[in-house]
Amino acid sequence: MYTGRVRQHEFKTLIYEKELDRIAGWVEEYPDLETGGDLFGFWTHSGAPVIQFVLGPGPNSQHNPTSFFQDKEHLIKAGEILRSKHGLQHIGEWHSHHQMGLAEPSQGDENTVFRALERYNFPRFLLGIANLRRRSESYRQRWTVNIGSFLFTSSRRNAQVGACVVLQGESPIRSNMRGSFRNHDPQLKKSWKVEKTTLETQPLVTTEPITISQGLWYATPKGQALLKEMYEKFTAKYGKCQMFRTPQEMMYFTLTIKKQQWQVEFPHDFPDSSPKLKVNSKYCEVKDWRGTYQQFEQIEACIDRSL
Ligand SMILES: [Zn+2]
Repeated sequence: MYTGRVRQHEFKTLIYEKELDRIAGWVEEYPDLETGGDLFGFWTHSGAPVIQFVLGPGPNSQHNPTSFFQDKEHLIKAGEILRSKHGLQHIGEWHSHHQMGLAEPSQGDENTVFRALERYNFPRFLLGIANLRRRSESYRQRWTVNIGSFLFTSSRRNAQVGACVVLQGESPIRSNMRGSFRNHDPQLKKSWKVEKTTLETQPLVTTEPITISQGLWYATPKGQALLKEMYEKFTAKYGKCQMFRTPQEMMYFTLTIKKQQWQVEFPHDFPDSSPKLKVNSKYCEVKDWRGTYQQFEQIEACIDRSL
């Protein structure tokens, strides 16, 4: 059961596919108890966590119905090797809420992380939360393991919700670490599900304030107001609307209308030039575009005509 609120993702977590297979494997080992471990890697310029190695539960870890305590010695040993051999840092933790139906950090989890941020003077910390859901018997896989990522920063009161960039295959660090220390390797399971994103998509809300180049239509207060108005009108009319930027700073919205994927792209000189609409990878422009007023209504009419 996914009880979390549907929220737009605010940051990206980069992780190798096979590290997700391992998390799913560990989580499936304890369908009624919490299990967990630690995340090692580094951070990108924009503050995105890059996971290079996922540590599972150590031999002396404690698994309870509503808590998990990592084997400290196991964590320290792994941390020392990963740091000295590969310069990796302890960037976060993960644990499973098994079948509790809580897809996000509990209040207790949040308190623990915020206290840790303060105590160790860390600017940010990543928390992975996994959930197990039983699938119907007809499936070959018994479970679905949902994995969410949450970013805690010392400057904000709430955790941010992440989406994953899944890197193919095995982490090179993992390949290199084989046999370096005793780490119980789980069965690799493909039962995981994450909210996916790509390296190219740029969520509007990032962990660092975004910079907007001079001269862009949404760099001015007037442009900002128009962008906000457009976003609010699209959300009101079509439900979930997501706002993105390309690396070239072009702003675009994505929408799902009658099960079709729509994209509304705003050119750099919007609203003078017409936005481009893309549906099922075909482009169309809004005919007889007038940039001075009722911009949303013109786009809306164009969308409605093609439905
Ligand atoms: Zn928890």
